[in-house]
Amino acid sequence: MRRVESAPNLVIATLWADALSAAGIEARVFSRYLSSIAGEIPPSEAEPTVWVLDDRDLERARQLLGELQRPVRGAGWRCESCGERHGPQFAQCWNCGAARTDPR
Ligand SMILES: [Zn+2]
Repeated sequence: MRRVESAPNLVIATLWADALSAAGIEARVFSRYLSSIAGEIPPSEAEPTVWVLDDRDLERARQLLGELQRPVRGAGWRCESCGERHGPQFAQCWNCGAARTDPR
Protein backbone atom coordinates (compact mmCIF):
# COMPACT_ATOMS: atom_id res chain seq x y z
CA MET A 1 0.00 0.00 0.00
CA ARG A 2 1.34 3.42 -0.95
CA ARG A 3 0.37 6.98 -0.06
CA VAL A 4 -0.68 8.95 -3.14
CA GLU A 5 -1.41 12.43 -1.89
CA SER A 6 -2.84 14.39 1.02
CA ALA A 7 -6.11 16.24 0.48
CA PRO A 8 -7.23 19.59 1.92
CA ASN A 9 -10.23 17.93 3.56
CA LEU A 10 -12.05 14.64 3.94
CA VAL A 11 -14.69 15.46 1.32
CA ILE A 12 -12.07 16.02 -1.38
CA ALA A 13 -10.08 12.98 -0.25
CA THR A 14 -13.21 10.87 -0.64
CA LEU A 15 -13.89 12.34 -4.09
CA TRP A 16 -10.33 11.46 -5.13
CA ALA A 17 -10.62 7.92 -3.81
CA ASP A 18 -13.92 7.54 -5.68
CA ALA A 19 -12.33 8.83 -8.87
CA LEU A 20 -9.49 6.31 -8.50
CA SER A 21 -11.95 3.49 -7.88
CA ALA A 22 -13.88 4.53 -10.99
CA ALA A 23 -10.61 4.18 -12.93
CA GLY A 24 -10.13 0.66 -11.60
CA ILE A 25 -7.62 1.56 -8.88
CA GLU A 26 -8.36 0.36 -5.37
CA ALA A 27 -7.93 3.34 -3.05
CA ARG A 28 -8.57 4.18 0.60
CA VAL A 29 -8.76 7.38 2.61
CA PHE A 30 -7.02 7.63 5.96
CA SER A 31 -6.94 10.38 8.51
CA ARG A 32 -4.67 10.42 11.50
CA TYR A 33 -7.49 11.92 13.52
CA LEU A 34 -10.46 9.77 12.65
CA SER A 35 -11.21 9.17 16.32
CA SER A 36 -11.08 12.85 17.26
CA ILE A 37 -14.22 14.86 17.81
CA ALA A 38 -14.90 17.16 14.85
CA GLY A 39 -13.98 20.76 15.54
CA GLU A 40 -11.35 19.98 18.14
CA ILE A 41 -8.44 20.11 15.72
CA PRO A 42 -7.45 22.72 13.14
CA PRO A 43 -8.33 21.60 9.56
CA SER A 44 -4.67 21.76 8.51
CA GLU A 45 -3.75 19.10 11.06
CA ALA A 46 -6.63 16.84 10.13
CA GLU A 47 -5.36 16.47 6.58
CA PRO A 48 -6.59 13.14 5.23
CA THR A 49 -4.46 11.10 2.87
CA VAL A 50 -5.37 8.95 -0.13
CA TRP A 51 -3.64 5.57 -0.51
CA VAL A 52 -3.59 2.90 -3.22
CA LEU A 53 -3.74 -0.73 -2.13
CA ASP A 54 -1.55 -1.95 -4.99
CA ASP A 55 1.87 -0.26 -5.16
CA ARG A 56 1.89 -0.66 -8.94
CA ASP A 57 -1.08 1.75 -9.22
CA LEU A 58 0.82 4.62 -7.60
CA GLU A 59 2.04 6.39 -10.76
CA ARG A 60 -1.32 6.16 -12.50
CA ALA A 61 -3.13 7.32 -9.37
CA ARG A 62 -0.89 10.40 -9.12
CA GLN A 63 -1.54 11.20 -12.79
CA LEU A 64 -5.30 10.90 -12.34
CA LEU A 65 -5.36 13.11 -9.27
CA GLY A 66 -3.18 15.62 -11.10
CA GLU A 67 -5.73 15.72 -13.90
CA LEU A 68 -8.56 16.21 -11.41
CA GLN A 69 -6.82 19.26 -9.99
CA ARG A 70 -5.54 20.77 -13.23
CA PRO A 71 -7.44 23.70 -14.69
CA VAL A 72 -8.52 22.91 -18.24
CA ARG A 73 -9.20 25.12 -21.24
CA GLY A 74 -11.88 24.55 -23.81
CA ALA A 75 -15.59 24.08 -23.96
CA GLY A 76 -17.87 23.74 -20.97
CA TRP A 77 -19.21 20.35 -20.03
CA ARG A 78 -22.27 18.70 -18.58
CA CYS A 79 -22.22 16.45 -15.52
CA GLU A 80 -23.11 12.86 -16.44
CA SER A 81 -24.55 12.23 -13.00
CA CYS A 82 -26.89 15.17 -12.49
CA GLY A 83 -26.89 17.13 -15.78
CA GLU A 84 -25.48 20.32 -14.28
CA ARG A 85 -23.50 22.52 -16.72
CA HIS A 86 -19.98 23.71 -15.84
CA GLY A 87 -17.25 25.93 -17.20
CA PRO A 88 -14.12 24.31 -18.63
CA GLN A 89 -12.04 25.17 -15.57
CA PHE A 90 -13.93 22.75 -13.34
CA ALA A 91 -12.80 19.14 -13.05
CA GLN A 92 -15.59 18.16 -10.68
CA CYS A 93 -19.32 18.81 -10.43
CA TRP A 94 -20.04 21.33 -7.67
CA ASN A 95 -23.59 20.07 -7.45
CA CYS A 96 -23.13 16.33 -6.92
CA GLY A 97 -19.35 15.97 -6.62
CA ALA A 98 -18.92 13.68 -9.63
CA ALA A 99 -15.59 13.92 -11.45
CA ARG A 100 -15.61 15.21 -15.01
CA THR A 101 -15.69 12.18 -17.30
CA ASP A 102 -15.99 13.48 -20.87
CA PRO A 103 -12.90 13.42 -23.15
CA ARG A 104 -10.95 16.70 -23.17
ZN1 LIG B 1 -23.31 16.57 -11.00
